[in-house]
Amino acid sequence: MKAIVFEQHGECDVLKYRDTPQPVAGPNDVVIGVRASACNFNDIWARRGLPGMKIILPHISGSDVAGVVVETGSEVKNVKVGDEVVVHCGLACRQCAYCTRGEEFFCPDFKIWGFQTGPLDGGHGQFCKVPAVNTLPKPANLSFEEAATIPLVLVTVWRMLVTRARLQAGDFVLVWGGAGGLGVMAIQVAKLFNARAIAVASADDKLELCSKLGAEFVLHRKKHDIFQEVRKITDGRRADIVFEHTGADTWPISMQCLKWGGTIVTCGATSGFDAHMDIRLLWNKQQNYLGSHLGNKGELIDAMRFVERGLIKPVVGQTLPLKELGRAQELMENGTVAGKIAIVPPTA
Ligand code: NDP
Repeated sequence: MKAIVFEQHGECDVLKYRDTPQPVAGPNDVVIGVRASACNFNDIWARRGLPGMKIILPHISGSDVAGVVVETGSEVKNVKVGDEVVVHCGLACRQCAYCTRGEEFFCPDFKIWGFQTGPLDGGHGQFCKVPAVNTLPKPANLSFEEAATIPLVLVTVWRMLVTRARLQAGDFVLVWGGAGGLGVMAIQVAKLFNARAIAVASADDKLELCSKLGAEFVLHRKKHDIFQEVRKITDGRRADIVFEHTGADTWPISMQCLKWGGTIVTCGATSGFDAHMDIRLLWNKQQNYLGSHLGNKGELIDAMRFVERGLIKPVVGQTLPLKELGRAQELMENGTVAGKIAIVPPTA
């Protein structure tokens, strides 16, 4: 099969479009004929290489796919050949105390498929293999390209805002990167809960998209003083929740923008990991600083119900052929595309 493979870390030129062996299902696995995959930032982290994390080489990235089941293992009962599916990318043993409590990300065997798996075990190819338990039905109202762009970002946002930050109606939610992969979902989830999203982005067309998705206020991070604007919007009270993933560059502003007793929830640090914090805020202002990582399959199932009803929509900013995955990653690194980038492999 054709796939995008890298054998060393580096810039996009390490990504090679080449033939690789087609995966074969183990007893509990399914093989999926990939109709579309999606670019996520973890593709970029894996390609660049991350301190303290071993990326298994040769590597096929890709943690989101939508496709058709073409083979099932001997023990598989929940899916059959011909089913149209999407993938939940959290792999865990599903037997330990953490997994059985729905906390699969604390499982000693926890891995993000297409990021920490390998060699050659991810979604950016014509076929991929995952445990059958990690599949969900593709929402019938979405194309394969649309469906592929949803699971990873949606489950992450759902866990951040709903499970961790306990989003409430009326909350002011400051959303950094409002037109990015996570941001487009965060705005829609905020709207779903009747919360009031204040979306930040760096271009007018992105701000327009944020408004269309339901952001009540939009701020241009290169033109506005974000802190002063948030104060004005909230009548001096500041945001109830700050939705963080942008890291060192935005962290000090996120802290300024947070109300007394408010919650910053973060899952990433695109601009750098090393952020300063005045810990007096923790006790004086009784603020909550929460970490969040992916989400469990139950959270994805909960969130997908709103996708099936059209209340949370995919935002596909661009669709590119598999061969051009490198270009897609460059577009993502430069922040050129609003929403997600879908990747389409050649028909097998
Ligand atoms: P995208 O690239 O789709 O969007 C990120 C957005 O962040 C951009 O649109 C950009 O918006 C904004 N941004 C980038 N740099 C800065 C900066 N210096 N200051 C302010 N805004 C900035 O990425 P995703 O939304 O998919 O992911 C975002 C981060 O979250 C990544 O680091 C990713 O690895 C992490 N992540 C973590 C997960 C987890 O489970 N732990 C799951 C998913 C993602 P603009 O320029 O318009 O302001």
